[in-house]
Amino acid sequence: MSRATYDVVVVGAGIVGAACAGELAGRGLHVAVVERDCVGGGATAAGMGHIVVMSDSEPQFALTRYSQLLWRDLSPELPSDVEYQSCGTIWVAADEEEMGEVRRKEAYYRERAVPAEVIDGTTLARLEPNLRKGLVGGLLVPEDAVLYPPCAARCLMELAQAKGAELHLGLSVSRIGQGRVFAGSREFSAGTIVNAAGAWASELMPEVEVTRRKGHLVITDRYPGFVGHALVELGYLKSVHSLTSDSVAFNVQPRITGQILVGSSRQYRAEAANVDSEILTRMLRRAQQYMPGLGELSAIRTWTGHRAATRDRLPYIGPWPDDKTIYLATGHEGLGITTSLGTGYLLADQLTGTKPRIPIEPYLPARIDAEHIHA
Ligand SMILES: Cc1cc2nc3c(=O)[nH]c(=O)nc-3n(C[C@H](O)[C@H](O)[C@H](O)COP(=O)(O)OP(=O)(O)OC[C@H]3O[C@@H](n4cnc5c(N)ncnc54)[C@H](O)[C@@H]3O)c2cc1C
Repeated sequence: MSRATYDVVVVGAGIVGAACAGELAGRGLHVAVVERDCVGGGATAAGMGHIVVMSDSEPQFALTRYSQLLWRDLSPELPSDVEYQSCGTIWVAADEEEMGEVRRKEAYYRERAVPAEVIDGTTLARLEPNLRKGLVGGLLVPEDAVLYPPCAARCLMELAQAKGAELHLGLSVSRIGQGRVFAGSREFSAGTIVNAAGAWASELMPEVEVTRRKGHLVITDRYPGFVGHALVELGYLKSVHSLTSDSVAFNVQPRITGQILVGSSRQYRAEAANVDSEILTRMLRRAQQYMPGLGELSAIRTWTGHRAATRDRLPYIGPWPDDKTIYLATGHEGLGITTSLGTGYLLADQLTGTKPRIPIEPYLPARIDAEHIHA
C-alpha cells in the first residue's frame, strides 16, 4: 500500500471540494483532493447555477450574500465557458399576498445593504414579456447571477491546482478517520481530512445526517432573449420548506448560449436517478402556468440530481467533534453552487486560525449532537 502525506486531504471534487481545495492551497497548505469520478460530476453537474442571496434565516442570508460577493469578485478571472452572467433574479408575485412578501423581502435586503427593487406588473411585463399577463409584480435583485456549474467546478479545481493542490481522480474512498484516508490500495495521511462528499457524505460517516433530496431539470434548445433574468415564483420558498411532500415551483434561468433551464422539483425518499414522469409533468405544467410560451420550445435534455439536505437547512462547515482530524463541508442542499466559495473561505479560516468575515457558529457540525438531543 502506497502512502502520501498532506496537510489536508479533501474527499470529493464537486464544486464545494474544489472551492475548499483552492482556498486551502492559496493559504499555503499542502492539499490533495481525492475523487472517485470526475471533477464536478455529482450534484454539481445537476445543479442550475443560480448564484442567489436568500433570506430564510440570518445564517443562510450571511453565507449566501458573502458567497455571492466572492463570486462577483472572482468573476473577472472566470473563463468564458463558466458562463458567469450577472443577470439578477426576479422573484415573481402572482397576487397581492405575494406582493406583501415582496415588500417584506425588499425591506430585509435594504436593511442589510443588498440592492433590491420592488417592481409592478407593468414593469415585470416589460422586463420579461414571455411571462403570463396579469402577474402583479416582483422583486428584482440585480446582484444575483447565474453560471454553468460543471465548468465552474473545473475552473475552481484548476485554480486550486495552480496553487499547488494535487488531484487524484478515479479513487473511491472507503474509510476516513484519525488522519487517514483509505482508497483501494492507496492510503493518504493528513493533519485534516475534509469530507466534501456531498450527498454521499454519510456513507463515509453514518453519524452525519445528510438526506438526499431529488431534483429534476430540463434544458431547452437555444432561444436567445426568451428569458433575461433568473425567474422564481415566490411560492418557491414554500416548496423549499416542505419537509415531507414532493413539491414543484416555477424557476427558470437563462444561459449565455440562449438555452433555458427549467426547474424545479424537490422529492425526499426518491433514491433512483430516473426521471419521474409524474413529477416532471407537474413541474413543466407549473412552469407553463407562469410562462405559457415555454410549451412551444424544444427541450433537449432532462435530468435529475440529489441535493444533500440537513435538518436545519444549513450546511455543515467545520470540525467533527468525535474526530478532530475530520472537517465537514457538506449539506448545502439547493445552494451549494452559490455557497461553495464562502464555504471554502470559512473552512480555510478555521484551519488557519483566521477571523472569519461572518460568524461560523451556525454552520458548525457540533450542532448535530444538539439536534439529536432535541429530535
Ligand atoms: C436539480 C438541482 C438544482 C440545483 N440548483 C442550484 C442552484 O441553482 N444554485 C445553487 O447554489 N445550488 C443548486 N443546487 C445545489 C448544488 O448543485 C449542490 O449543493 C452542490 O453541487 C453540492 O456540491 P458538492 O461539491 O457538495 O457535492 P457534489 O457535486 O455531489 O460533489 C461530491 C463529490 O464527492 C464525490 N464522492 C462521493 N463519495 C466519494 C467517495 N467515497 N470517494 C471519492 N469521491 C467521492 C462524488 O463523486 C462527487 O464528485 C442544485 C441541485 C440540484 C440537484
